[in-house]
Amino acid sequence: MPILDSVLDVIGATPLVRLRRVAADCPAEIVGKLEACNPGGSVKDRIAVAMIDAAELDGTLAPGATIVEATAGNTGVGLAMTAAVRGYRCVFVMPEKMSREKEALLRAYGAEVIRTANAPLDDPENFLSVAVRLADENGWFLPDQFANPANPEMHEATTGPEIWEDSDGRVDALVAGAGTGGTLTGAGRFLKRQKPDVSVVLADPVGSTLGGGPDGCYRLEGIGSSRIPPNYDPAVVDEAIKVTDDEAFAMCRRLATEEGLLVGGAAGCAVVAALAWAARSENAGKLVVAILPDTGRNYLSGIFGA
Ligand code: PMP
Repeated sequence: MPILDSVLDVIGATPLVRLRRVAADCPAEIVGKLEACNPGGSVKDRIAVAMIDAAELDGTLAPGATIVEATAGNTGVGLAMTAAVRGYRCVFVMPEKMSREKEALLRAYGAEVIRTANAPLDDPENFLSVAVRLADENGWFLPDQFANPANPEMHEATTGPEIWEDSDGRVDALVAGAGTGGTLTGAGRFLKRQKPDVSVVLADPVGSTLGGGPDGCYRLEGIGSSRIPPNYDPAVVDEAIKVTDDEAFAMCRRLATEEGLLVGGAAGCAVVAALAWAARSENAGKLVVAILPDTGRNYLSGIFGA
């Protein structure tokens, strides 16, 4: 590998790793895409750079500007890392429910963090409303990962092709949670263009209405929603599999102790859904790729009980 110009050149090209023990009895092959291998520790590094590149290109983002974003934490880390390299100031708005580790991480990269109550979308104190208000009042740049087209486009240009190439075109199903929907929409679009019968499966927390079912509270961070975000294209998604917090967190602990994979709740959720999809008789022998979006180090005090 040549000497790289900055940490941003390390983003992407994450590996697929076979789940040997947790999928031992499974008639299909399940592999995880290890997004924790990105330098900021999550899949969101990809879109952070993409959204900043796009804004620099169209002139929305001028040198020395302030970036403000509503984030579950990971997009914030990606933006803060990019901002450190490119010389921007960052302010992040994050709901109370997100882990303390993520807030500490954002501050470590030099960002400011504002915590909001876990308020519903139509509440002015909801994290999205607060970020929009701060952007309007101060003239700050709001990347708006939920609607920014650079988000799904980046997954269509990188995440999808990586899965296709690294599986030698054998991939039969893509399983992932959706927060903004960028990963599923973008990577799913690319894969379906290569192989129209690829199944795109949403791993959705019980309590999120994105994949159906009643609205409610859940502890899984970064995935699920009570409305369809603009970057989530339901036409790309074939089905949703609902997963409880307890099922997802128990799977995280198994992935750590049985596979040596320390990953976050959304990854546990995707693996639970992947196993359920793979258990159907018609899916025997197929290759399932589950997105493991971030590192378990973000959740040591929660999921891992530290
Ligand atoms: N997992 C985690 C931990 C996240 O923070 C996010 C994004 N908020 C996702 C998954 C969802 O990815 P996407 O926004 O591409 O749907």
